[in-house]
Amino acid sequence: MSEVTSTQDSYDLIVLGGGSGGIAAAKEAQNLGAKVCLLDYVTPSPRGNKWGLGGTCVNVGCIPKKFMHHASILGDSIVDAQYYGWEIPESKNISLNWETLRKAIHDHIKSVNWLIRVDLRDRKIEYINGFGVFVDANTISTVAKGVERKLVGKYILIAIGGRPRYPDIPGAMEYGITSDDIFFLKNPPGKTLVVGASYIALESAGFLNGLGYNATIMMRSVPLRGFDRQMAEIIKTELEDRGVSFLKKCLPTNIEKLDDDKLKVTWKNDSDEVFSDNFDTVLFAIGRMAKTKELELENAGVKVAADGDKIDVVNEQTNVPNIYAVGDVLYKKPELTPVAILAGKLLAKRLFSNSTQNMDYDTIPTTVFTPLEYGSVGMSEERAIERFGEDSLEIYHGYYKPTEFFIPQRSYRNCYLKIITKREGDQYVLGMHFIGPNAGEVIQGFAAAMRLCLTYKDLVDTIGIHPTIAEEFIRLSITKRSGKDPNPSACCN
Ligand code: FAD
Ligand code: NDP
Repeated sequence: MSEVTSTQDSYDLIVLGGGSGGIAAAKEAQNLGAKVCLLDYVTPSPRGNKWGLGGTCVNVGCIPKKFMHHASILGDSIVDAQYYGWEIPESKNISLNWETLRKAIHDHIKSVNWLIRVDLRDRKIEYINGFGVFVDANTISTVAKGVERKLVGKYILIAIGGRPRYPDIPGAMEYGITSDDIFFLKNPPGKTLVVGASYIALESAGFLNGLGYNATIMMRSVPLRGFDRQMAEIIKTELEDRGVSFLKKCLPTNIEKLDDDKLKVTWKNDSDEVFSDNFDTVLFAIGRMAKTKELELENAGVKVAADGDKIDVVNEQTNVPNIYAVGDVLYKKPELTPVAILAGKLLAKRLFSNSTQNMDYDTIPTTVFTPLEYGSVGMSEERAIERFGEDSLEIYHGYYKPTEFFIPQRSYRNCYLKIITKREGDQYVLGMHFIGPNAGEVIQGFAAAMRLCLTYKDLVDTIGIHPTIAEEFIRLSITKRSGKDPNPSACCN
């Protein structure tokens, strides 16, 4: 650092973080004529993994996860294909080459890193591969390529995302990995313990199991907290049906490395009984934290929420008027890529054009990419009952048989969906929940319909596309109140 020189430049907008939210805001601001500088710097994970421009989603989140999920589903398809007449040599021995999958994913990610970089350059958004810290409310300091730069911004956007948390137990940091590492593993993960029971844990255990690895989930309370309880339990059952084990109401207490490189994990249950087993990999998926402490926010006067490290905002504005925040760094907002993107775009429009449109964080669709996916939009049954009372609601539900499942005789016992509506009038739809193949694709269109105040009458008046699984939503007629059997009778009824 003895060679450090100093420069100072001014911008309309400085963005800290080149992930989903930061890039979306930077591009929109530049479209509207703003002079923009974007900083992105990845601090290596404790296991030494780091990655390129694009943030969590591109490098260690949605994209590599979706590839692993798809790879695992392709395994199912190879099995099904034989029932449809495909003759696959040595089909009994199909197995995955982890290194081929890992390399294919990383080649794709590197190309995306490069495309984002070129896009920023073509748009004349200045990109600095440097870690930004606040000097004051308008000034960011960073060191890039040995040069210390002071960047002055009319507006500053904090879009630094989050990083995985580790439990405070012996061996966790030394021997455990997180989603920041799983996609980089040089060797196949082998027998894996996944600690946590939400999106990342269930998705990871799902694809690991599908790829042929033994997966166990250690759950301290319930699966998918915050989601519809009934749907979450069905997803758990589906994972169990596929061979994923669950250790219920358990917490790890220690991890040690044995002479044969296995990891001996000790844990206890809620009765304080102690257990242990050996694993090849221990994956922590126990939530994410925002590394706001490292931003030296106090120099700018930005406050974080009292009970943590995240930033509380009103319409993305922090307590310091020219400093904004979007994405995973926000307090009590969904940690999802499309949420970060839309919030970033709308903010840039408000800052650099006459827009007054604010981000609406309600009714956000989402999908858990477990082998049988779970997509939802709107309220859970519990939330709707709490808000409106059971008597004001009608809940339509049913199990269904995807046509594709018949020939390979794939189990459909967990293919289930439900619609939660108001009981009166045309029955305004409050929530839609779908478990089945491609649930994300199914829910997306219904989310648009719900923004337009979808009613149950609209659904039954809609013509189906037959034979699809999405049409099951417009065929639902059995209410929970009726007590009738929600199991499917036959096709095409
Ligand atoms: P990020 O994308 O995390 O970007 C922040 C960037 O800022 C990072 O590159 C970081 O290194 C950088 N940075 C941090 N501090 C500084 C600093 N001081 N200076 C400069 N740069 C800094 N969401 C979905 O919608 N669908 C999914 O299927 C999905 N799957 C996921 C799977 C996994 C395993 C994970 C971990 C997440 C998943 N998510 C998914 C969530 C999604 O990835 C995040 O919500 C999204 O990436 C958040 O975007 P962001 O812009 O807030 O932050
Ligand atoms: P979440 O914050 O969603 O869930 C954390 C999980 O870990 C919960 O099951 C929680 O249990 C458990 N947990 C928390 N602390 C401990 C602990 N000390 N010991 C044991 N278990 C613990 O985190 P994730 O890491 O799963 O995901 C982070 C976010 O990333 C998600 O909320 C989601 O927004 C986003 N994401 C989105 C995806 C998608 O859209 N498909 C996929 C993956 C991630 P408890 O319920 O008891 O608190």
